[in-house]
Amino acid sequence: NALPFYASGLVVKGFGRGSKDLGIPTANFSSDVIKNLPENVGTGVYFGWAQVENSEIYMMVMSIGWNPFYNNTEKSMEIHILNKFDNDFYGSNIKIKVVGFIRPELNFNSVEELVNTIHSDIEYAIQKLENTDKNDEYFNL
Ligand code: ADP
Ligand code: MG
Repeated sequence: NALPFYASGLVVKGFGRGSKDLGIPTANFSSDVIKNLPENVGTGVYFGWAQVENSEIYMMVMSIGWNPFYNNTEKSMEIHILNKFDNDFYGSNIKIKVVGFIRPELNFNSVEELVNTIHSDIEYAIQKLENTDKNDEYFNL
């Protein structure tokens, strides 16, 4: 069990498969960040905290995996931050602290089923994080 673990890196362009159109934009990490994850971190959906450059620390949900719904051939690591941003932040540095595991990767029969599951992932993350301390010396003050 690798939890908690930390990662940081630049936000890159994703696969452009329209996460934003589903109302769930995901900031994608570059492949060198994925390669540097602890070895025992498996695929699946996780939750934790995220900081964009020197921003405040936000709750996030993260997916690591092959995203079977889209038949990806590339491994991906992407985070949805639980905050409404006025602008995109491609090229920014993000620091994350991954605190818990939610579920393994799943296959979905429809986009609606996928979106509903992500919404319940978000509810679960909020419930787990809301009474815990987000402050960590890893983050920028
Ligand atoms: P891509 O395929 O390029 O990752 P997305 O549709 O997943 O495109 O959108 C991701 C981008 O949206 C992020 O890189 C970031 O710049 C922006 N963004 C805006 N709000 C958020 C948010 N709450 N969480 C994550 N990314 C966000
Ligand atoms: Mg994305």
